[in-house]
Amino acid sequence: MMTNDTWGEARETLQTTIGKNNYQTWIEPLTFVSCENGVAEFGVQTSFQGDWVSRNFGDEILRQFEKLGASVDRLKFSVQANRRPPVAQSSPARENFVTKPARRPAISDEPVLGAPLDKRFTFDRFVVGKPNELAHAASRRVAEGGPVSFNPLFLYGGVGLGKTHLMHAIAWELQTRSPELKVVYLSAEQFMYRFIQALRDKQMMDFKSLFRSVDVLMVDDVQFIAGKDSTQDEFFHTFNALIDQQKQIIISADRAPGEIDGLEERIRSRLQWGLVVDLHPTDYELRLGILQQKVEQYRAQYQELKITDGVLEFLAHRISNNVRVLEGALTRLFALASLVGREITLEMAQESLADILRQSDRKVTMDEIMRKTCDYYNVRMSDLLSPKRSRNIARPRQMAMWLAKLLTQRSYPEIGKRFGNRDHTTVIHAVRKIDELKAQDSQVAEDAELLRRMLEA
Ligand code: ADP
Ligand code: MG
Repeated sequence: MMTNDTWGEARETLQTTIGKNNYQTWIEPLTFVSCENGVAEFGVQTSFQGDWVSRNFGDEILRQFEKLGASVDRLKFSVQANRRPPVAQSSPARENFVTKPARRPAISDEPVLGAPLDKRFTFDRFVVGKPNELAHAASRRVAEGGPVSFNPLFLYGGVGLGKTHLMHAIAWELQTRSPELKVVYLSAEQFMYRFIQALRDKQMMDFKSLFRSVDVLMVDDVQFIAGKDSTQDEFFHTFNALIDQQKQIIISADRAPGEIDGLEERIRSRLQWGLVVDLHPTDYELRLGILQQKVEQYRAQYQELKITDGVLEFLAHRISNNVRVLEGALTRLFALASLVGREITLEMAQESLADILRQSDRKVTMDEIMRKTCDYYNVRMSDLLSPKRSRNIARPRQMAMWLAKLLTQRSYPEIGKRFGNRDHTTVIHAVRKIDELKAQDSQVAEDAELLRRMLEA
């Protein structure tokens, strides 16, 4: 039997499993209504709150109930009319359900190959800016179907820059345009589990023929299989078989094929056959565009939302590259707005997002720059600081100085001092030298870009 006390106990644990911040923002405001026939009902202030809790914490809440021996199969969130904030609710009150994953009915008898697609990850909802325009254009092209133009399409970039979003968008689009196509999306990790399972159950023939029967195969986060030899092997065979049949393959990874350690050479080179495009870290304009779009969506879907001018600009300035972090911040603002029911000011935003802002503010230190540069060029820290001027040491040293100027607030004299007490003119010279070289020598340009990204990540 599930009671208010059970809920009290579950809440205790949730504080630690989902974190204090999430707990305070999302779980604390829930009111336990009742539990009947395995359905636990909670009151929420807005349907947004219910949506969010069910999507992000629903499974975790059910897990806690299960641990406590409460027989709850489903969660239900209903908007409580009397607790609604003064702002008018534009969409009718809705109820949200979360069901235990294991009890979801199977959709069809066919073996399910891929992972489910996220409804929100469509092209409509993908904001295009300079850093992602190439990746977007290539994805669009592939999504049009028709003759296979680049195979595979290899998308890479840092965490939270939209790789998975683009892959799902391609899948949605293809399914709409050509429902007869068998489009399969899954992560490299899932591919590995399927493979291991097939080996264990002695069903390799089925596994092979299943994967060879798809029209479009998308494998997300392929870096995961690096170093996992038999999975790589199988992946390679599947990959080749599909390419031979002119079937489209789309792959993503967190870095370029050439930079994935532990990837077999033959796979690496095959991945580079098609089109390789990267998603660059977001810039201010893109971040602002994404924030604006999400606010519009929130307004259209949930309710009126007043934000003081300048708040979104502030967030776009202050919050890092990672779009997921940006979304997290915005979501907290939405929660805040729905709880307080009045305009969100800059002060309110700053206060409620203090932790996120602090994290994003993380400045790169001189020490990190020096260490990463030494690792990258394989030189010793003592050499970097020494008076040695041979090229193989002077170049990394200049690069580190250039990075220090770019990524820290340190002055030329301060930088010089950290590099074995050098004069500020040496630093100025180094910065100029690297700027010059970057324009002439693509290797230097690439080194600079890679190091910058590694340090900013
Ligand atoms: P990755 O797979 O590269 O780590 P995701 O595709 O999961 O990143 O994106 C992280 C989150 O940011 C998702 O919620 C996604 O919808 C959102 N996002 C990323 N890029 C964009 C964009 N250009 N426009 C809108 N949303 C984006
Ligand atoms: Mg992803």
